[in-house]
Amino acid sequence: MKKIGVLTSGGDAPGMNAALRAVVRMGIHRGHRVFAFYNGFKGIVENESTEMYNRSVGDILTRGGTIIGTARYPEFVKPEIQKQAARNFKLLEMDGLIVIGGDGSFRGALELKKLGIAVLGIPGTIDNDINGTDSTIGFDTAVDTVLDNIKKLRDTASSHQRTIIIEVMGRTSGWIALKSGLAGGAEAIIVPEMPFDLEDLIHRLESGIARGKKHSLVVLAEGVMSATELSDKMKDAMGFTANTVVLGYVQRGGSPTASDIILASRMGARAVDEIASGMSGVMIGLLKGELVTTPFEEVIAEPKIIDPNLYHLAMALVH
Ligand code: ATP
Repeated sequence: MKKIGVLTSGGDAPGMNAALRAVVRMGIHRGHRVFAFYNGFKGIVENESTEMYNRSVGDILTRGGTIIGTARYPEFVKPEIQKQAARNFKLLEMDGLIVIGGDGSFRGALELKKLGIAVLGIPGTIDNDINGTDSTIGFDTAVDTVLDNIKKLRDTASSHQRTIIIEVMGRTSGWIALKSGLAGGAEAIIVPEMPFDLEDLIHRLESGIARGKKHSLVVLAEGVMSATELSDKMKDAMGFTANTVVLGYVQRGGSPTASDIILASRMGARAVDEIASGMSGVMIGLLKGELVTTPFEEVIAEPKIIDPNLYHLAMALVH
């Protein structure tokens, strides 16, 4: 019987609750005790934890967000705060910790590992910018949310013969823009991984209009520039103003898709078995349909960039 801690950290993502439920229920099923720390690493530092039971995670499977809270807790980069966390964790006589979050969270997890704590990661972030997994928990839901908005905006763009720029999340990663833009048939997709070429964009939009297109939708990842900045650049070149929509936090919310719930359930259950068998310092991922583990060092070495083939496909199909 082991004592396993679990926390959610970084930006919230739909499916984090499903992962938590899987950790708790598989943990109890295997005869372990599971404790949740509130608000990410802050919960360890401030000793805010509670034992979880099967009923503690009842009715959360399809709920967005995370019932145990998450936090951007920049203080955790300080070695003395990390040492405090490690001390607290050891005093609770925990055997291991499962961290559900993004690459920043795994940097924190790696520091705890260096301080002698067994730590396992589960990729929970809408960004899908994590190496070692084909998809992160929450990404599929975020893409669906953006797609839903693209469809609504297309209705109005088409009725008024408008050009609309839709700014989506992705500071360093264009995954959400790419997949939602491909699925939504956007006339242009602008991502940090590809060079931005204003002339090419204008040409693409103008030739679409010349061919009789009633609307133009541009999906823009926030990391490249803001929708307003792009609109200003386009105005000078095209002579009219594109409308701008910033989707913002709606992309994080909502009920997770079936795909995210299943991914979260598989990863959560696997994380329990890995940590109980003594594994540490790795993230659970899903590669080509199989659950695998990848060391944190590899996971955080560089962000996972978009698949250029998918980008070129999207661009080829909008003519
Ligand atoms: P998302 O992809 O949704 O942004 P994330 O896990 O990358 O999720 P961050 O805010 O980057 O989100 O990181 C989450 C938390 O992890 C931070 O608030 C901090 O507590 C911890 N963390 C991040 N980077 C480090 C680091 N270099 N060393 C120690 N802890 C870190």
